[in-house]
Amino acid sequence: MGELVSGLIDLIRAGGKAGAVSACVLGLLLIPLGYFLFAYAAGPGAVWPIMLGVSILGLGCLGLGLGALFGNQARLDAAMDGGGTIARANFAEARLRAETAKVPFGACGDCGHVVEGGPAYDRCPNCFSVPGWVIVENEDERGRAISSLS
Ligand SMILES: [Zn+2]
Repeated sequence: MGELVSGLIDLIRAGGKAGAVSACVLGLLLIPLGYFLFAYAAGPGAVWPIMLGVSILGLGCLGLGLGALFGNQARLDAAMDGGGTIARANFAEARLRAETAKVPFGACGDCGHVVEGGPAYDRCPNCFSVPGWVIVENEDERGRAISSLS
């Protein structure tokens, strides 16, 4: 069960919004299915925990899906309100900042955010991208960050 749930969470993360919606739909299908199995198909001595389990699994799917949907929305809102962010298209300025930023710093190839200071973030603090986030801890890595900002 635990593996199933963590696999589902990975699926939702990988699928983004579509994955979250799929999980909601799956959950909405499983809840009445479990109830139906429990109420009509389960005779005396039937294994009713399994029937209820289907409903609970459905609830879990729905919860995970909604969590992913609204979780993302909340993070998006936070990013919008963050202030000090630069427009996604303004990569020329971002490259300039990456050229002059003091090591260590982090740069985001997805939104062009450049942050000086310790690489305290495991993802872009502006757009929360993980694959786009480049941490520069020595001068040799500066070129990698600049080239990611194009
Ligand atoms: Zn970013």
